[in-house]
Parts: sequence; structure tokens; C-alpha cells
Amino acid sequence: MTGTLRAGPDFRVEQAGGFFVLRARLLDLPGFRHAFTTRQYPDGDPGALRALGFDPLRVVEAEQVHGARVVAVRGNCGQRVAGADGLWTDRAGLVLKVRSADCLAVLVVDPQKSRVAAVHAGWRGLAAGVLSRTVRALRGAGSRPEELRCAVGPAIGACCYEVDEPVREALGRWPQAFRPGRPGHWQLDLREVGRAQLLAEGVRPEHLASCEACTACEPEWFYSYRREGRSGTLWALVSREDGR
Ligand SMILES: [Zn+2]
Repeated sequence: MTGTLRAGPDFRVEQAGGFFVLRARLLDLPGFRHAFTTRQYPDGDPGALRALGFDPLRVVEAEQVHGARVVAVRGNCGQRVAGADGLWTDRAGLVLKVRSADCLAVLVVDPQKSRVAAVHAGWRGLAAGVLSRTVRALRGAGSRPEELRCAVGPAIGACCYEVDEPVREALGRWPQAFRPGRPGHWQLDLREVGRAQLLAEGVRPEHLASCEACTACEPEWFYSYRREGRSGTLWALVSREDGR
């Protein structure tokens, strides 16, 4: 890895077990672990999970169908939760993970109630309100939105994300996320939609961190579906430690 990554002030790049990951300063809380992987991550290697402090046998993954279903995870380790784009848990040691390659991967920590959530949100999921529903699911279980810490990982930036009318219409509630491009097209800032959705649910601005890196602009660091099609996966992982 030669170039320097501009991840912004909210994130830092860190070496773990021979590869780089990104971490949100906001989620550096005692009793919680998290990571956003880069292109270097040796996918499928249980040793890599262990290097990040995660138990490979206790990982739970969302199927990810570009929907808005958020599921409470209570134990089905090693499994994929069908039909879900968001997962949350209050069980110690369970590792929640979502994948992305341009879409938003959002990790949430509630330090008061000792809960974590991992959410995949592309434009379809955002249009369906997947981040709103994540906050509501946690609130329904007793969390207070103003205590949630939310981190949005590396995603495609407005610089590289051209969309057309159907997308503009589907996300019409967030006109501030679009700037005009070619006729009939817009440059979409997906992160802005995510931020707006979380803030509208009562998340505090100072509890919201976004990685500034664009997955399509940084081929050395990230996979990008827009740039290279189906190539590889970036993971966002979060867990609550035992004994908390
Ligand atoms: Zn870009």
C-alpha cells in the first residue's frame, strides 16, 4: 500500500494482523470492537477475524437484499440472516457483519444499553428507510437515539456516483444529496442521505461519523462495484465484548 488514504478526521487507518483496516474514532469505546476492512483483507481467513479480536465461530451476517428489514440477533452464529439488511444484538461476543462495495455500511454502538448494529444501505435500502428502521428497532428495545454512536464506512462519493431519474425520485425527500450532472442525471451523495436519515431519527450530529474516502476513487484501498463490477467485498464488523 503506497498512497495515503484520505479517510477524513473521523477515521483512522490502522494495521492489524498484517493488513490495514479503518476504524471510526467515535466507536473506540471500552467494551466494543469494530473494523471496516480494505482491499487487503484476506477474506475467508479465520485468522484475520481473530487478528481483529473477533471469534470466527460467532459471526452473523445479513443476507442483504436491498430492503429495510432489521433483525434482532440472539444467537444463530455462523449464519446468514435471510431477508435482512440490518442486524442488531445485545449479546456479548456475537460479531455482526455486513458487506459493501460502494453502498453504505453503517455500524452503530449504544454504549448505555450495550448494543451494536450493522447495516447495509444502498439507495434502495435508504429509500425504504433502512437506517430509520434500525434506530427505531433499537429504540423499541429501550435504546435512546441520542445515545447511539453511528459510523458510516467507506462508500462511493458524489464524485463518482452518477444516477438517473428513478433514483432521484426514490430519494426525493433528500434533495440536498443531489447535484446536477449530465442532462437527466445527478451526482448522488449517498452518505448525505444516510446522515439525514439518522439525524431525523434523533441521532446527535456529534455522534455521527463518516469516512470521507470514495471507494471508486481509491482502487488501491477499496473494491468498487461501480468501477469494476463484482470483484470483492469490504466488510464492516462490530461486536460487544464479553463481560460488559
Ligand atoms: Zn470518487
